[in-house]
Amino acid sequence: MVPPRYSKLTPALLDSLRSIVGLPHVLTDRESLKQNATDATGVIFRMPEAVVRPGSAGEVAGVLRLCDEHRVPVTPRGGGTGLSGGAMPVQGGIVLVLDRMNRILEIDRESMAAVVEAGVTTQAIQEAVEAVGLFYPPDLPTSGSSTLGGNIAHNAGGTRAVKYGVTRDWVLGCEAVLPTGEVIHLGGKLVKSSTGYNLTQLLVGSEGTLAVVTRLVLRLRPFPAHSWTLVAPFADMHAAARLGPELFRMGVVPRTLELMERRAIQAVEEKTGESHAFGSGGAIALVEVDGTDPGAVEAEAQKVGEACARLASGDVMVCDTPAKVQRVWKLRDSFGEILRPRVSRAPDIVVPRSQVPEFFRALDEVKGKYPAIETISFGHAGDGNIHLMVLKGSTAEWRDTVNRAIEEVYRRVVALGGTISAEHGVGAVNREFLKLAFTEAEVDLMRRIKMAFDPHGILNPGKIFSPGG
Ligand SMILES: Cc1cc2nc3c(=O)[nH]c(=O)nc-3n(C[C@H](O)[C@H](O)[C@H](O)COP(=O)(O)OP(=O)(O)OC[C@H]3O[C@@H](n4cnc5c(N)ncnc54)[C@H](O)[C@@H]3O)c2cc1C
Repeated sequence: MVPPRYSKLTPALLDSLRSIVGLPHVLTDRESLKQNATDATGVIFRMPEAVVRPGSAGEVAGVLRLCDEHRVPVTPRGGGTGLSGGAMPVQGGIVLVLDRMNRILEIDRESMAAVVEAGVTTQAIQEAVEAVGLFYPPDLPTSGSSTLGGNIAHNAGGTRAVKYGVTRDWVLGCEAVLPTGEVIHLGGKLVKSSTGYNLTQLLVGSEGTLAVVTRLVLRLRPFPAHSWTLVAPFADMHAAARLGPELFRMGVVPRTLELMERRAIQAVEEKTGESHAFGSGGAIALVEVDGTDPGAVEAEAQKVGEACARLASGDVMVCDTPAKVQRVWKLRDSFGEILRPRVSRAPDIVVPRSQVPEFFRALDEVKGKYPAIETISFGHAGDGNIHLMVLKGSTAEWRDTVNRAIEEVYRRVVALGGTISAEHGVGAVNREFLKLAFTEAEVDLMRRIKMAFDPHGILNPGKIFSPGG
């Protein structure tokens, strides 16, 4: 396939953009360009030529139509918290930031649905619906700054997916703008529809490569007012990894099951000076159960305790005050930020939930083969999703083997029935590994879908696939 040829922004095109979104909303100063050149990966491939902040779907349509006509690349952006380079303008052009489109338009209690603009943060919708006794479950450490547009684009998972599923499960419909400028309306406040292709779900996880989402219809449920938060120490990740399968065998589905290698906790303790008395052992499990009936929730918490005892954990700590719950979550949510300076790559692998113990065995084998490679793991083990922090190294052996080791981890994951990204997306940083997860025919089908939505390849080029090749 021939890579598309892109054009640079000319002064005349900049004037046209200003006439669409208004003078103050087209930014070309160096600081604004730099701020929008990367996401939470911190890697800069290329600076954008302008940052454009539309205020409505009509303005998004105008910008896309203009850019399509003149072959200017457009990279959509929400909160910029992504971890796969999705919001990086790898081909230059404009970054289209949705931050002005941040209104919660409706909370419909009788349909248990909300209608929001794509720039609303995850936390803003959570708080708004909780105020009326409803619940939007997807929750990430970045909820305060990540947007629903970014969440839909990456099919964000987070910490409550064990019981409540991922973003995909909570999106009923959306409004989106095609790269050629047409505004489309998909789905709605409907919990059932067997009418035509489900294009809403095609956009979920499409990483901003098919359309710019401007509005979402979200499913809600009653707020589960009761929850228990438990922390259990285990000898190591191998021992802790058995907790998920054990709980599922017992018929217990916690809302959260996070595993953390002790070294991740130590890194936070070293940085913050705070210490956490979680007993001894190399791994910690953080489990939450919730519901609307306090007795049933307590009974589930007891079952978690029984499972931990059967798996020879140390003493289980119950976080029985809001301050204790907050403290343990503050710790968990800080891993990414605190480890980042030490990390070279952070694969976000997922395997079937029963295969988490097998994943840790495979990881040990790979590390045995490549002794220069050091990792620290944590993540949403209840979903089979582990974040593997591959630490930076400085030796020639490290440089020679790091990519091979990561590729081998991915191969082992795929052999276990898993895939290369659970929730962070392929983006720009994982596209070389797409071939491990899909056959040629499958990748070709995805490329043809991309062509149908975006015939000139202007929308978020260089993500998921290499441009053209
Ligand atoms: C410390 C840390 C912890 C994290 N933990 C989690 C976690 O537990 N679970 C999880 O799933 N993720 C996690 N993430 C990753 C990140 O927060 C999510 O991917 C989030 O969904 C990104 O949202 P955003 O608004 O910041 O998107 P951005 O980073 O701005 O963009 C992400 C992608 O979405 C596209 N996009 C943005 N808005 C739109 C739109 N309106 N229409 C079309 N495409 C759009 C962009 O082009 C890009 O491809 C974490 C990140 C950090 C830094």
